[in-house]
Amino acid sequence: MNAPKKFASQADLEEKQVSFTKLSDHAYAYTAEGDPNTGIIVGDDSVLVADTQATPAMAQDVVRRIREVTDKPIKYVVLTHYHAVRVLGASGYSPQQIIASQDTYDLIVERGEEDKASEIGRFPRLFRDVETVLPGLTWPTITFTNKMTLWLGKLEVQLLQLGRGHTKGDTVVWLPQDRVLLSGDLVEFSATPYAGDAYFKDWPQTLQNVAALKPIALVPGRGPALMGEKQVAAGLAETGAFIDDVRRSVEEGVAAGKDLKAVYKDTVAKLKPKYGHWVIFDHCMPFDVTRCYDEVTRYPDPRIWTAQRDLEMWEALES
Ligand SMILES: [Zn+2]
Repeated sequence: MNAPKKFASQADLEEKQVSFTKLSDHAYAYTAEGDPNTGIIVGDDSVLVADTQATPAMAQDVVRRIREVTDKPIKYVVLTHYHAVRVLGASGYSPQQIIASQDTYDLIVERGEEDKASEIGRFPRLFRDVETVLPGLTWPTITFTNKMTLWLGKLEVQLLQLGRGHTKGDTVVWLPQDRVLLSGDLVEFSATPYAGDAYFKDWPQTLQNVAALKPIALVPGRGPALMGEKQVAAGLAETGAFIDDVRRSVEEGVAAGKDLKAVYKDTVAKLKPKYGHWVIFDHCMPFDVTRCYDEVTRYPDPRIWTAQRDLEMWEALES
């Protein structure tokens, strides 16, 4: 008999191996076998970090790696989106500015507290030394809409909103000179896209907008850094295929009059052969299918996940 699946990633306790990969003259990727990544840009006079790791203690390991390649000050932290696992380590860098899209700021106001409790409950291993997280939330000190350009000396860094996808506030960091892109969770590689706060209808077009920049290296939200046009294309294609496959399955189920639980079981059965080997597949699927079912039926915008709603949903779908 199968034991019930342990909630989300509470059973995932294995530490991952960190890699620090140079992508260009200015860009580095801090990756960890499918755990959340951090991107680093080293300019003429300062350093920019995109996505912080989950705690200030974990950020210290990123800082240690940065200090192996430069002693320039870490001036900017960019939040590609509002998720706790991406933002709660910010204070560990003591940045001069924390930058996010206005849409991301609005999500922090609306649901930051709930998300913090929810994410820590889902994946305790990712919040190592959680007691080092400052009380309250990580607040951006600068916000922008659509596009913002930073100059790290002569190095141009663009922060771009290319459309909704993983969340409504998604921001990518683009280095035109090196053609390197830091995508946040808009793009994953060998890792299951989390889509509990997603816009399934918009995500594929947003990926096309990423592709139109023609990056030659890309740091995904999870998974190894993508090097070269072929690997970048593969990462964009597999993320897009997963989102399309979930959406198609959910739309078919809804059209057939099935309820969420039936749609969930069908969708997992259909997708598991293709994607079941990706990290956090079992964790993400209940959240992803629930959000897609919401979007297809009656909730254009994602409903707020709370620690309580997480557990109720899991119980309903996995029982
Ligand atoms: Zn995320």
